[in-house]
Amino acid sequence: MSFGVNELRDGQAAIQPQRELGPDGPLANQWASVRAKLQREVGEVEYRTWLKQVALGGLDGDELTLVLPTRFLRDWVSKEYGALITAIWQTENAHVRRVDLRTQLPVRGTAPNLAEPTVAPPPRPEARAEVVAPLDQRFTFDTFVVGKPNEFAYACARRVADSPASPGFNPLFLYGGVGLGKTHLMHAIAWELSTTRRNGQAVSVAYMSAEKFMYRFINALRNQSTLEFKNELRSVDVLMIDDLQFLIGKDNTQEEFFHTFNALVDAGKQIVISADKSPSDLSGLEDRLRTRLGCGMVADLHATTFELRISILDAKAKRAGVEVPAKVMEFLAHKITTNVRELEGALNRLVAHANLFDRQITLETAHEVLHDVLKAFDRRVTIQEIQKRVAEHWSIRVAEMSSARRSRNVARPRQVAMYLAKQLTSKSLPDIGRHFGDRDHTTVMHAVSRVTALIATDAAFAEDVELLRRLLES
Ligand code: ADP
Ligand code: MG
Repeated sequence: MSFGVNELRDGQAAIQPQRELGPDGPLANQWASVRAKLQREVGEVEYRTWLKQVALGGLDGDELTLVLPTRFLRDWVSKEYGALITAIWQTENAHVRRVDLRTQLPVRGTAPNLAEPTVAPPPRPEARAEVVAPLDQRFTFDTFVVGKPNEFAYACARRVADSPASPGFNPLFLYGGVGLGKTHLMHAIAWELSTTRRNGQAVSVAYMSAEKFMYRFINALRNQSTLEFKNELRSVDVLMIDDLQFLIGKDNTQEEFFHTFNALVDAGKQIVISADKSPSDLSGLEDRLRTRLGCGMVADLHATTFELRISILDAKAKRAGVEVPAKVMEFLAHKITTNVRELEGALNRLVAHANLFDRQITLETAHEVLHDVLKAFDRRVTIQEIQKRVAEHWSIRVAEMSSARRSRNVARPRQVAMYLAKQLTSKSLPDIGRHFGDRDHTTVMHAVSRVTALIATDAAFAEDVELLRRLLES
């Protein structure tokens, strides 16, 4: 793996090994910040499942040691999160080059115990071009599941990877909520570009988070090497900045980014940006920068649909070579609706559990293993709210939800409300029936299957239901 710009920058800093392990030492503070970022990055569920038990060992030269309670956890964390942990540590502390995961700290002495075999980070295909931040090997176009909500963003990303800097696609601005695949698509573009040659030349790609950009810039200011920083960045063919929203409020860095941006675009180089909001909604960004960001192609990653979540789970299970019953996938896709990362986390956890105890994955084990996870996701939406929203949507009175009338214009919304009540609350069928004028649980069951069938055949209806669901979830 080449670190391109990194190497030049870091090579200049004279580094003192840090050993402050006291609770208030700088390293402990950095660790607290790394943890917070990790939590934000992987989501609450995964963090609690896998990363909460990771403890800080120490920093020796450029090698940082983290400690885990068991071998299983250590291997898992290394495989699934090694690259991410390293990347976050590197933004936190430029002296860190390697992160070592161990099962035990030496009881005596301060140096890490070298007898414990270390887990090598996963091998990566060697990219020819320089990439500033490490790319996640799982984030390729092949592993990205395309569906209605992300097909446009995917097509734009493909286009840029195939022919960078084509008119109309520069800059490419990808935006969407947390865990919807922005970073995945960015890495996919970077992989594609950095492993293909164009006109016999390797394409040089610089990919980094906005935080890293800021960090590098501040460091350059401190080392009085801003000119080199500028030149290095301006020498790449493609510059990719992830999570641009982090630049809000960082005026100097924004200014620098603006100039880099202009210089690259003027030189016919490609820029790819991601953020959590569209350029026009990124308030706090300088106007001229905002205007330029919106000049190329702006593509939105929409919230996932149930169908897309099922396809993603399906693809992940196939890739992992595990058999996951359709019922379990449906259960997960119904329960975890906001964030693909959380969805993956839940699936990983099920798979790990099944492996660990040599058990089959069933709906029952899913309930059991994901008990705490699902509780966190149990939305606190009430049946009354659902009835109110649905009634509003189809302009009927809320009282019709409980009335005995069966004409289609009230019966259909009532069925949708029952369906949503089943999906969005943890209430039982009889319980739901009681809220709808004391109807029988079989009526609720019938409503659920009727609505499910209609969603599959009537696109406009499906959209209505999806919209209602989103409204209720937000
Ligand atoms: P973001 O950067 O938008 O917060 P990420 O790109 O990090 O989200 O995606 C979170 C996780 O979900 C990653 O593991 C990613 O691979 C996965 N993911 C998101 N969307 C898809 C998709 N369409 N197909 C496959 N995996 C996806
Ligand atoms: Mg991201």
